[in-house]
Amino acid sequence: MTVFEEMAENGVIWQNGEFIDWADATTHVLTHGLHYGTGIFEGVRAYDTERGTAIFRWEEHLDRFYQSAKPYDMEIGHSREELTEATLGTLRRNDLESAYIRPIAYYGYHSLGVSPGDCPTDVVVAAWPWGAYLGEEALENGIKVKVSSWRKHASSQVPTNAKTTGLYVNSLLAGEEARRNGFAEAIVLNKEGNVAEGPGENVFLVRDGEIFTPGLSESILDGITRNTVIALAEERGYEVHDDVSISRGELNTADELFFSGSAAEVTPIRQVDNVTIGNGSRGPVTEELQGAFFDLVERRTDEHDDWFTYV
Ligand code: PMP
Repeated sequence: MTVFEEMAENGVIWQNGEFIDWADATTHVLTHGLHYGTGIFEGVRAYDTERGTAIFRWEEHLDRFYQSAKPYDMEIGHSREELTEATLGTLRRNDLESAYIRPIAYYGYHSLGVSPGDCPTDVVVAAWPWGAYLGEEALENGIKVKVSSWRKHASSQVPTNAKTTGLYVNSLLAGEEARRNGFAEAIVLNKEGNVAEGPGENVFLVRDGEIFTPGLSESILDGITRNTVIALAEERGYEVHDDVSISRGELNTADELFFSGSAAEVTPIRQVDNVTIGNGSRGPVTEELQGAFFDLVERRTDEHDDWFTYV
């Protein structure tokens, strides 16, 4: 049975203000967002911590949720408090100790001009169990990635800092191309040809004991895990360069590379195309930061307790 089949048995989803049965959480085929990708969403994790289930950086995800809606003139129509209660209720009613949480808002069913006109904004919060995005083995041994032949859409073409449903066709193309060629994931270059990010991850590079990650002007999503990793690294005394351009060639000569993301967490990269990175396994800096990340999210430390919303 798939996770969704299991959730469909007793699970609930919050839709437009009420909890409904998982199986009833459907939408009309003429929904605006289905045709034009006019939705914005979040991907958030709740961890089974030493102090009970806790949502990691919920407030920052909520911030980005409302920010993402702005360029599309989308009224979310539910307050932060309502969405927080919706999410806590979803976790509790589904008895989830740890979960991947998916809030989404999209233009709904009313008319199908590209202009959303009077289309309502439908808002949904769902949650379900989801293990390591790229697999447990990937967290330990690292993954092989392929530099995509598809470029990332430029921030002059679409707001790349908004987490918009339609933009993920680029992620699908890059990721599937990589997997068809025997790689676990892609790295996507921006229009200028510099490193942007993964299909659903930000990229970090370690060189001579310092840490580099593409700046926000490189057409990337302002990742919340990226921000977390930067904080954890700085707290451990690392010099972090988070406002740089990284050329494709610098990937090959890096001592270490890793991905960050709410789904992917901190995943080492051991190979880019045909080039082995460092010694071809999880490097020491990656291991330290990954350890710090999991100690943090599973609450084996008291640090940053304000980043957690306990269920
Ligand atoms: N870039 C893209 C394109 C993403 O989809 C994600 C996942 N939300 C990220 C980066 C990482 O962001 P976060 O750490 O906030 O999950």
